[in-house]
Amino acid sequence: MPHAVSIKTGTLPENTFDAIVIGSGISGGWAAKELCEAGLKTLVLERGREVQHVKDYPTATLNPWELPHRSRLTSQFLQDNPLISKAAGIGEDNAHFFIKDKDHPYVQEKPFDWIRGYQVGGKSLTWGRATQRWSHYEFTAPHRYGYGIEWPIGYDDVAPWYSHVEKFIGICGNKDGIDAMPDGEFLPPFDLNCVESHIQKSIRTNYSDRHLVHARWAHLTQPQDIHLQQGRGKCQARNLCMRGCPFGGYFSSVSSTLPWAQRTGNLTVRPHSVVHSVLFDEQKDKATGVLIIDSESGKAVEYYARIIFVNASALNTNLILLNSTSSRFAHGLGNDNGLLGKFVAFHNYRASIGADVPGFQDQYYSGRNPTEPILANYRNLKKIDTDYVGGFTSFMGAYRTPYGSNKIETACGEELKQAMQYPGDWHMYMYLQGETIPKEKNHVRLSNTEKDAWGIPLLVTSVDYDDNDERMIKDFLEQSSEMMEKAGCKNIRWNDSHQAPGLDIHEMGGCRMGKDPRTSLLNKFNQLHACKNVFVTDGACMTSTGNQSPSILYMALTARAANFAVAAMKRGEL
Ligand SMILES: Cc1cc2nc3c(=O)[nH]c(=O)nc-3n(C[C@H](O)[C@H](O)[C@H](O)COP(=O)(O)OP(=O)(O)OC[C@H]3O[C@@H](n4cnc5c(N)ncnc54)[C@H](O)[C@@H]3O)c2cc1C
Repeated sequence: MPHAVSIKTGTLPENTFDAIVIGSGISGGWAAKELCEAGLKTLVLERGREVQHVKDYPTATLNPWELPHRSRLTSQFLQDNPLISKAAGIGEDNAHFFIKDKDHPYVQEKPFDWIRGYQVGGKSLTWGRATQRWSHYEFTAPHRYGYGIEWPIGYDDVAPWYSHVEKFIGICGNKDGIDAMPDGEFLPPFDLNCVESHIQKSIRTNYSDRHLVHARWAHLTQPQDIHLQQGRGKCQARNLCMRGCPFGGYFSSVSSTLPWAQRTGNLTVRPHSVVHSVLFDEQKDKATGVLIIDSESGKAVEYYARIIFVNASALNTNLILLNSTSSRFAHGLGNDNGLLGKFVAFHNYRASIGADVPGFQDQYYSGRNPTEPILANYRNLKKIDTDYVGGFTSFMGAYRTPYGSNKIETACGEELKQAMQYPGDWHMYMYLQGETIPKEKNHVRLSNTEKDAWGIPLLVTSVDYDDNDERMIKDFLEQSSEMMEKAGCKNIRWNDSHQAPGLDIHEMGGCRMGKDPRTSLLNKFNQLHACKNVFVTDGACMTSTGNQSPSILYMALTARAANFAVAAMKRGEL
């Protein structure tokens, strides 16, 4: 186990730890790993049930015919769960890793699909695993173009921490040398299929500034020693990831960071612990611990620590901080400027195109590639070149429809035999992941009237798309169609889902980082400006949304902040 640094705390009284981490998902797992490796006795508080790697993946190796409804959600489930059943990829085989609507209500002042997974591992079990780095453009654009405040850090601050995370979790990808999507520490990529390669070449020929590249995804294509030490193995390209991977082929906190932290002997994970609030001691002028409600017994219990990492996922982190009131912080912990819960943003996921691709009849692909090629952002980089601000990443893929258009359902005899032998026509899709503007009016707050089963106020969501997003959607649809036309695609179809925010599952902000305590809640090391021993390193900390998939940045920021916290503790500052 690398670099264990012991911090002398003497014998700890009951319920007292060196550090508390709230949440055991993608970011909480990283906080636990770094803090435990540094020698801190660390308590991870998780509101959901325990999930252990392999043992608690009940459907991981089932064939479709072994699932009662061939993996489809039943009409009863859809009726009972109109919200969570919208989540990307949810099915009968993985619904146990998502919440049920009725158990976890919230108030939608404006429509907002809040997708949650409450268990040890959080959404790391079901995430899509796309892991591109932010570029320096994304860190600087909001301030440069006047649609946001200045980030207190830049790409260079976070680049070594990206490397640190990438090496440990394993990211496949290709070094492409693109400014707008910097290279990382990559394992070999998944290959593009023949149509994806064709479209890649066509885009390269027709547009000097547009780069369609191999997926950058959290999969072990060639496990290194550090991955084998975690007990993880090579991705088998089964594409059944959301059930939990018994091979540890993709990264989740359950397969990687939490067991690693466990091995130090410094980790305690307490499931069924719904964090109510962070405790603040006015005399000491710092947070002293956390109040939880045990979800099984209903008992309130306090835990104490020198530092607290809040990693409950963006909106739950806002909820916990807003609910952490004291006479010093009447409106939520650290909320001196009244901005806690405000400037919530998300990713614009509304638009996609689909098209038919003639030809390539003599070529196929093997394996179920669990990744998607990425078209790096090409908008508003060095200057504003559109009628909106922000950029977008596009994901795409090409595939053959099994049995093509041969109406297999109605064929029989010789016709059926022929239909079954035909591997189908080629099609492609491309979809948008766009930056949105953080705005004060897009906010979450606590309900004054309604509480959950544990006596905690419900969260009210008041978040919406705006005209900037509409203009981005139009541009994406036009540009994507033009690129596909040039690549010879036919029958190009546009789709604007008009989905509510939230369904992107990239909600961010509310407790943003910044240089100025008057306009932000967190400093450059993710400490609350007004309560330095509390760190927020999940999506709540995001000053702006960028256009890359965000979770690997949460991991990098968490590792960076945890190492800062350990050093500050050693200096006696925390
Ligand atoms: C289908 C899907 C696809 C996705 N695809 C991608 C992708 O390709 N790339 C990407 O970057 N991101 C993707 N995401 C988003 C990604 O999952 C999240 O950004 C990430 O999990 C956030 O990490 P987190 O630690 O903040 O939250 P989580 O991983 O959700 O963990 C938070 C944990 O905190 C716990 N918790 C919450 N409230 C409390 C409380 N009061 N007390 C105690 N514990 C609490 C929760 O139970 C949970 O375990 C996807 C998500 C889904 C569901």
